[in-house]
Amino acid sequence: MSSKHGRPGASRQVEGHFARKRFGQNFLTDESVIAAIVNAFGPAPGQNVVEIGPGLGALTRELLSRLGRVQVVELDRDLATALPIRLLNEGELVVHQADALKFDFRTLSRGPHDLRIIGNLPYNISTPILFHLLEQADAIADMTFMLQKEVVERMVAAPGNGDYGRLSVMLQVKCEVEWLLDVPPEAFSPPPKVDSAVVRLRPHTTPRYNCKDEKRLQSLLTTAFNMRRKTLRNALKGQGSAEQFEAAGIDLGLRPEEVDVATWVRLGNLLGQGDSNE
Ligand code: SAM
Repeated sequence: MSSKHGRPGASRQVEGHFARKRFGQNFLTDESVIAAIVNAFGPAPGQNVVEIGPGLGALTRELLSRLGRVQVVELDRDLATALPIRLLNEGELVVHQADALKFDFRTLSRGPHDLRIIGNLPYNISTPILFHLLEQADAIADMTFMLQKEVVERMVAAPGNGDYGRLSVMLQVKCEVEWLLDVPPEAFSPPPKVDSAVVRLRPHTTPRYNCKDEKRLQSLLTTAFNMRRKTLRNALKGQGSAEQFEAAGIDLGLRPEEVDVATWVRLGNLLGQGDSNE
């Protein structure tokens, strides 16, 4: 089984805990990096902050000292049980021992766009957790995550960039996506084999794009970006008529990675419309 960043190898003991590879456990140990992440997150008293995967509490301790109260969702039963003891007298800690991929974060929110979520996430769950949280975007103010740098590059990529693809479009349709900082492997124990980066996603409080069917957009993007070197004319063959594309002002001579988010949404809506007319 691989670790957070796909790193095989023997498990290592960190602060008396054997790092579990199946839970992607690479613990932050560099105090200056921990402070930089929490500073970039910018917690303020009264905010409803939830940390996913607190582990040994590296970020949690710093968050508690600034907020006084933090809720955490931790899958590892041993860590979830030990954390309140580790952080005794540091503030009010509410532990939810649960799988964040199945967790209903709305139950923690006090109103619309209330939750501020933070987490140093295992690589193997990073994309599914992003999509799980985006389904609950109405309850979320923002999300700050440490992920594999390569994934962050894809998340923030703009049209014309080689990293721009399905993930960039699907996230940017719903959120403002912002690169915050890079984190080297030496900041963790055990150290991962690849670089990491911290990214912030802020769900739009009023929809920026009028996407009528996200599933359809997602499947359209999958089809198109599987042929990212081809023009739309070839990549979308059979998906709509030349007249339809022309009426929507879509340049079929472009390659998928040159098409901006607004145009992808328009294309998804246009082809969806075709379905309902059939
Ligand atoms: N936040 C700590 C830090 O920065 O040192 C630990 C980060 S470690 C990369 C990932 C953490 O997420 C571990 O504590 C792991 O047990 C937890 N975790 C893994 N899968 C999870 C899941 N599905 N739901 C909740 N927590 C999970």
